[in-house]
Amino acid sequence: MKNEIIEKANKVIANTYSRFPIVIKEGRGCVVEDVDGKKYIDFIAGIAVCNLGHAHPAVRDALSDQAGTLLHVSNLYYTIPQVELATWLVEKSFADRVFFCNSGAEANEAAIKLARKNFTDKGDDNRFRIVTMENSFHGRTMAAMSATGQEKVRAGYEPVLVGFDFVPFNNLEALKKAVKPDVCAVMLEPIQGEGGLVMPEPGFLKEVREICDETGALLIFDEIQTGIGRTGKLFAYEHFGVTPDIMTLAKALGNGMPIGAMLASERAATSFSPGSHASTFGGTPVITAASLATLKVMDNEGIIEQGREAGNYFRNKLLMLKEKHDIIEDVRGIGLLLGIKLSQPGADMVSACMEKGFLINCIQENVLRFAPPLIIKTEEIDALTDCLDEVLGEK
Ligand code: PLP
Repeated sequence: MKNEIIEKANKVIANTYSRFPIVIKEGRGCVVEDVDGKKYIDFIAGIAVCNLGHAHPAVRDALSDQAGTLLHVSNLYYTIPQVELATWLVEKSFADRVFFCNSGAEANEAAIKLARKNFTDKGDDNRFRIVTMENSFHGRTMAAMSATGQEKVRAGYEPVLVGFDFVPFNNLEALKKAVKPDVCAVMLEPIQGEGGLVMPEPGFLKEVREICDETGALLIFDEIQTGIGRTGKLFAYEHFGVTPDIMTLAKALGNGMPIGAMLASERAATSFSPGSHASTFGGTPVITAASLATLKVMDNEGIIEQGREAGNYFRNKLLMLKEKHDIIEDVRGIGLLLGIKLSQPGADMVSACMEKGFLINCIQENVLRFAPPLIIKTEEIDALTDCLDEVLGEK
């Protein structure tokens, strides 16, 4: 059965992912099962998506209840789940307004458009440039890709959109030079995800905020990977005492349902008016109901605190592995967005862990990334670190 499905898939699905040769059939909590009945502890969770784990009953019930009540209606009308979700996000963040869409890339498109429109509204048509970071990742649509500071992501799609300048992450001097009077925004991930789990240096984000304040440029935080409790706080910016003007969310916001959101302060959001941006499915009732259910469980059951404690435990275990295995150069990340940088490529270790029943992934060739559900148990972390100990020992 497995081979048949894989063969079929390789004929009919666009060839944009190199997939592992397993077919996942179901999931519950932190465990997924393939069509052969083999179980895996999921330490990647849809890449930082399923924070409550798989098939969470609250999310399932919210989806089925809302699907039986009102699945979809146009944004020409108000709906209760959308308003409730926006209210929750506004109450829990710096933001005053929320624009809903369907993915991370779309949320970043909205952020880029809003930043530009803030200045064209004032008649400042030449202030459209956006400074982003080298090694950043903002998505695959044309503008989000143009904002992405990785050659390999943009290759083959040139000419990309004009107006994006890149500076090295953590380099304030380069940033100061780049933020010229024609720059409308600085856009960055507070912790770089796909770029290899790179933390900001102490004080860096505060200085970025100051540069924006001095020049009038807007500050956009892409929290698509770091948001919704992944780093041990609801939003990563809370670790650094810095608030952006615009923030983008997706991934864990719907615990697996496709949703993106762009949050903005009133001052920044004011440039969007009826007709200036839109999305047919953005904030559709069934998805916003699932998202709201996710966030309520996180709130009511102390899931972020649980994830933070699990993250500290996990990080210590990884540090212990580093003591033992020279191949580990660095232990990175915060909360349950963790990684180990290896002195050699990590792809075969991902496969070896999969053989032994663990899903992890590898970014930038040599960083093994771990982003399990926030409900991961210490026994499950122990099982993975024992497996890593064995796999690294064979190197
Ligand atoms: N921004 C960041 C920081 C991401 O990590 C990702 C996805 O990995 C995206 C944007 C793109 O999100 P999506 O794949 O939902 O378009």
